[in-house]
Amino acid sequence: MSLERIALFLLDMDGTFYLGDSLLPGAMDFVETVRSQGKRFLFLTNNSSKDSKQYADKLRRLEVDVDASDVFTSGEATAIFIKRRYGSARIFVIGTQSLVRTFEGYGHIVAKTDPQVVVLGYDTEVNYEKLALGCLFIRKGVDYIATHPDINCPSADGPLPDAGSFISLIERSTGRKPDFIVGKPNPLMLKMIVEKTGVEPERIAMVGDRLYTDMEFAKRSGIFSILVLSGESTLEDLKKVEVEPDLVLQNIGELALMLKRQV
Ligand SMILES: [Mg+2]
Repeated sequence: MSLERIALFLLDMDGTFYLGDSLLPGAMDFVETVRSQGKRFLFLTNNSSKDSKQYADKLRRLEVDVDASDVFTSGEATAIFIKRRYGSARIFVIGTQSLVRTFEGYGHIVAKTDPQVVVLGYDTEVNYEKLALGCLFIRKGVDYIATHPDINCPSADGPLPDAGSFISLIERSTGRKPDFIVGKPNPLMLKMIVEKTGVEPERIAMVGDRLYTDMEFAKRSGIFSILVLSGESTLEDLKKVEVEPDLVLQNIGELALMLKRQV
């Protein structure tokens, strides 16, 4: 597979496009280059604590001209997944208010009684009541779905406990793991993206900084993989993986330069 065929770049955000509140080197150049070549990009994030509109607002504050349709989150993918499996469902959510809004936007009912499904997201607004009720439902055998598996979320102060850490807590209490985990590296999201964009997998690349989510997602989905070393992974980490990414670059700016050189 080669870079020339790629028509759609899936972009991880933190560690790939920005770090905290600053764009990474060449991020703007990448956006302009991709657009000027008639190609496309879609931000793809596992972080289900915010919705696509909030991510688009953040990107616009960083002067990147995008809207909510340029962002696809694991929360939205989970809402679609549940809709297909159950229709409009009654859901208990261990997640943020924006995740609740995402589910309601897809016609689900978010409730504290008799749920068909318990959803666990990255709940930065977590409290004991949500955890306790969620564990009671899960123990009773209610279907249990997590939006994504990340153990930690990067922050300027260091890694913070993400959904994967809550998965461990719930497992300690109830003995159950999620029945499904929707986000990267599950290739389910690629199918949704192919439907959403109409671009074939052979023409899609994943650009990201994490081996166990971004690159694993590309591998399992059979799409072109581009690792950037601007975030979590180092060249040292690369020695431990079975399948190397198709391309390894310092940052997204280097990808912009490669695209320009090809024309
Ligand atoms: Mg990242």
